[in-house]
Amino acid sequence: MDMFSKTQRPLGVFLFLVLCLIWLQGCGATSDSGGSTSSAPTIPPETTVDTTLQVPSTLQPHQTIVLALTQNTFEVPENTISFLLSGFGDESEAAGPSALVAPDGNQVQEGVFFYGGLGGYGNVLIPSVPHISATAGTWTFAQYETTQSTQLTLRIGSETDAIPPPSTITVQPFVASGEYSATDLEPTLERMKEIYEKNNIAIQLDPTIEIEDERFYQTIPVFTQPLTRELLSHGKDGVANLFFVDDLAAGVLLGIASGLPGEMGSAGDFNGVLVSIVAHASGNVLNTQLLGETAAHEIGHWMGLFHTSNFNGNYDPLSDTLECPLSQGSGQGVYASDCIDFDGRNLMFWEGDPAIEQSTLSADQQYILLHSPIAKTQTTSE
Ligand SMILES: [Zn+2]
Repeated sequence: MDMFSKTQRPLGVFLFLVLCLIWLQGCGATSDSGGSTSSAPTIPPETTVDTTLQVPSTLQPHQTIVLALTQNTFEVPENTISFLLSGFGDESEAAGPSALVAPDGNQVQEGVFFYGGLGGYGNVLIPSVPHISATAGTWTFAQYETTQSTQLTLRIGSETDAIPPPSTITVQPFVASGEYSATDLEPTLERMKEIYEKNNIAIQLDPTIEIEDERFYQTIPVFTQPLTRELLSHGKDGVANLFFVDDLAAGVLLGIASGLPGEMGSAGDFNGVLVSIVAHASGNVLNTQLLGETAAHEIGHWMGLFHTSNFNGNYDPLSDTLECPLSQGSGQGVYASDCIDFDGRNLMFWEGDPAIEQSTLSADQQYILLHSPIAKTQTTSE
C-alpha cells in the first residue's frame, strides 16, 4: 500500500459501507429472480393481445411514453429503442414483473436482472445487456400477485436512427441544504456532465431548484419513508431527478439510487437519486470531483448499471467490463486502489476513492445508457 493508505483506507472502509448498501439493494433484487428463476411465477399460457394496450399509431418518433397496463401482454412497435416495465404495490410486499417472454418465445432471464420485488416496486429494463433488444411484437410477462399497478415506459426511435442512437439525458438537480446553494453545486454538476460527455452521452442540465424546507436537509435513504416520498414528489417527468441533501444517515451514506434501474418516465417515489453533501465535504470545502462522480455513479445505477466489480468479487452482467479478481486484494475483498489495472477507474466500481479519478464507462455500459428510456434521441439538424 502506498503512503496514502493510512489516511485513505479508513475513508475507503467508510465508502464501502456506503456503496455496499446501494449494491445490496440491487443485489437483493437480483436474487429474487435473476438467480432463482425457477421460483418465478409461470407465464400464463394464453397471450391474447388486448388491443387497447397497443401503442397509439399517432406516436411520433423520438418519443418516450408511459402506458398504464392492466393485462399481461403488450405490443412493442417497430423501431422501439428500449422499454421499462414497472410494477407498484404495497411497500411491505413484493411487486413488479417476475418473468418476461420476448415475441420469439424466449424467456428473458439470463444476464438480465429483474429489479426489486420487495419494497412495493420492481421492474425489468430492456436492454439491460446489449444482446437482448426491445424487438417489435407481443411481449408477455408475469408479475407478483400483490402488484397493484403496472406501467410500460417505451422509447420509440425511427427507421433511420444510428445504433446506438446519439442520446441526451436531461438532469434536473435539486438541493435541500442549510449551507449550500445551487451556485455552490455548479462545479459538481459540470464535473458530472463532463464524465458523461467523455463517454459519448450528452447531458442537459436544467437549472437547479432549491428546496427551502429544513425537514429534507437530513433525508432518510429509504424510498418508502413518507418524508423521502415527499422529497421525491418534487421530481419531474422524463428527466433524471438528482437530489442533493445535506445529509443521509448521519454522514455514512454518499448516495443512493431509488432503483436499479429506478422508475423512468413518470415522476414518482422511485424516480430519483439522493446524494449527501456532507459526506463529500471536509469542513466547508466540497470535494467537487468525488461529489460529481457520486452523482454520476448514482444516475448510472438509476439507469440500470451495476457495479463492475463488488468488494466480494461479484460482477455486472456485461461482457466487456473488466473484472477485478479477488486475488488483487490483500484481504477479503478488493478496493479501487487494488484494481487500477482492471476496473478501478470505472465510474461504476463499487468503491469511491478520492485519490482515484473514476469516470470511464465501457462500450456496453455506454450502450445501455444510450438506449435508456429516459434518454432522448438527438435529431440531426445540421
Ligand atoms: Zn454504487
